[in-house]
Amino acid sequence: MAEKARGGSGKKISRERIDILFHHAREWAHDDMELARRCILLARRIAMKHRIRIPRRYRRQFCRSCHVYLIPGHTSRVRIQHGKVIVTCLECRSIRRYPVVKQNIR
Ligand SMILES: [Zn+2]
Repeated sequence: MAEKARGGSGKKISRERIDILFHHAREWAHDDMELARRCILLARRIAMKHRIRIPRRYRRQFCRSCHVYLIPGHTSRVRIQHGKVIVTCLECRSIRRYPVVKQNIR
C-alpha cells in the first residue's frame, strides 16, 4: 500500500466522505443491503486510515460484526430491558447493549 497523503489536511475531507457514505448507506439499506454494507465498510476503512472516529450518531447504525446497516424491524431487533437498549443484529445475531439516555420529560 502506497501512502501518498501526508499531513492532517485529509481529515476534514475524510469526515465529509464518512458523512456521505453513511448517508448513502441509509438510502440503500432498504433496497440493497450489500451496497449499504459496502458503504459502511468503506467509511470504517477511511476512519481507520486517518485515525478518526466514526461519529457517535453513526456508530449505533451499523453492526460491528458484519457491518450491516441496522434498521429496527428489518435488519435489527430493538428491545429495552433493565434500563438498557438491546440491539440484536438479525444478520449475524450479535447483540449490543446501550444505556438508555434519559431525557427530562415533564
Ligand atoms: Zn451483524
